[in-house]
Amino acid sequence: MSQFDAIIIGGGVNGLIAGTLLGRRGKNVCIIEKSNRFGGMASYSVDGGPTLAHSLYNLSPRVLSDIGIDPQHPVLSGKPVSTVSLSEDGRHIVFKNEGVFWSEGAKHPESDAWTDLTQQLITYGGLLRQLAEAPPPGGQKAILSRGGLNEFLRLAKLGIGLKKLGKPEMRRFLQVVLSNVHDIVLDDLPEGSVAGMLAADAIWGSATGPRSPGTVFNLIYRLGHGGNITQPAGGMSALTDLMVEAAQKAGCVLMPETEVFRILLDDDTVSGVATNDGRTISTPIVLSNLAPKLTSLMTGHSIFDIETTRQFRNIRARGTAAKVNLRLKDSSPLPGLPDELADERLIYAPSVGYVEAAFNPAKYRQMSKAPVIEAFKMQTADGASWLSTIVQYAPSDLEGGWTETAKEQLAEITVETLSRALPGLGDQIAGKQVITPDQIESATGAPGGHWHHAEMSLDQLLTLRPANGMSRYSMGPKGLFQCGAATHPGGDVMGLAGRNAALAALEAQP
Ligand SMILES: Cc1cc2nc3c(=O)[nH]c(=O)nc-3n(C[C@H](O)[C@H](O)[C@H](O)COP(=O)(O)OP(=O)(O)OC[C@H]3O[C@@H](n4cnc5c(N)ncnc54)[C@H](O)[C@@H]3O)c2cc1C
Repeated sequence: MSQFDAIIIGGGVNGLIAGTLLGRRGKNVCIIEKSNRFGGMASYSVDGGPTLAHSLYNLSPRVLSDIGIDPQHPVLSGKPVSTVSLSEDGRHIVFKNEGVFWSEGAKHPESDAWTDLTQQLITYGGLLRQLAEAPPPGGQKAILSRGGLNEFLRLAKLGIGLKKLGKPEMRRFLQVVLSNVHDIVLDDLPEGSVAGMLAADAIWGSATGPRSPGTVFNLIYRLGHGGNITQPAGGMSALTDLMVEAAQKAGCVLMPETEVFRILLDDDTVSGVATNDGRTISTPIVLSNLAPKLTSLMTGHSIFDIETTRQFRNIRARGTAAKVNLRLKDSSPLPGLPDELADERLIYAPSVGYVEAAFNPAKYRQMSKAPVIEAFKMQTADGASWLSTIVQYAPSDLEGGWTETAKEQLAEITVETLSRALPGLGDQIAGKQVITPDQIESATGAPGGHWHHAEMSLDQLLTLRPANGMSRYSMGPKGLFQCGAATHPGGDVMGLAGRNAALAALEAQP
């Protein structure tokens, strides 16, 4: 008799969601997490500072309903935020649902073009969302089986959705979805801050620049749930606490501060896991929230053929996003920013060319001296005021490594860059935290500290995610599944990878 029907290795967002869904379907589930806090990258913080992830834009309503979280829950009722593109001349640009405005209130001349392009990308995002809510097409299910029929219906729906677009739009969709964001954005908008903001939203966390193929896909992925951005009330860790509560309600046993180091096999079938505190826990099903290479190290390579082992090794995951949290001396508005914009999402990406130039050093293992930055002003539970920033193009494999000097340099670059638009920011800073991709990797296991555990590039998407032949969540030995961000459809605080993996595990049950 197994101790659990299923064990989840890793209690990140996807692990929590996979476990909760299985628990709600009557399975006796244990979620094992190596750190003392569940939530993975979404809730990782240092000394109570801001968490790595700091905003919500892609959380799937389908996931919430599957794990029994009310979308109206107070934690999720945070105010939608606008995006502000910071300008050196103090004329910041504000992006709202109603269009684009100068910070003093007048409509921006590129507002209509931005709205048209964004709406079009949101429509495409809705189509891709249908693909995201299930394993990618291409399984070998008989059409008359339940799974086969569902897959057929889903594809038919997607086909109808595409058809409804009309011929010219459909042609445009196919042209756009595989393109680079540089070309698509600059076809419709002049070079400058409005275009720069869209380019920035296509590259967060990835080792690509606006000219890299497939970057429009990333932008569409980000807009897949409509493009609204919110911050959960109480911060991201309040949301992951809510997920922990849902897992407990579903009957899951939560095991924090326990590291799995081995997946046990009986011949070619999963039989349990071994943990660092000397326990072996039996189960016929394991879902791993970790990237495939780490998971395969836990089973041992001998269960996989050479080609598969090579594929694990070749999955690209070069993290490029660092967190620089700036503790502010007081909670007064940032210098150079009107009061009413103080709580919005701030972006420093003055043009598409700037974003591309910021990427160049990262190609050669250097940090960008003029990075792309996303910032939120926020308060942590202890009442401290912070500017939480994501700094893009701080490569995991920095030449010379992420020494204390390199980290200090990144913090200085961040303050200098933001100070171009927020003059005097430096005088407001009481302390700094720098969290680099190598640190994210050692804290969470994400290869290269990568935002999505594996690059979201055309050769690692859909049926090719995380690698050819592994897109339907099962992996090698019978009973082993992957449920983390490296699997389809990818990461963000979205949860579909965990949900889809749990459904695949249920479906595979005899
Ligand atoms: C700098 C940065 C900023 C980001 N900002 C945002 C944002 O604002 N909004 C957004 O939507 N997304 C953001 N993301 C992306 C998002 O946080 C991730 O894509 C998502 O949280 C991944 O979730 P996951 O559950 O798949 O994996 P993870 O969060 O990586 O979870 C894996 C879990 O497994 C645990 N684990 C590892 N090894 C073991 C072991 N041997 N035994 C037991 N447990 C183990 C880890 O401790 C971890 O909890 C950001 C990412 C980064 C790097």
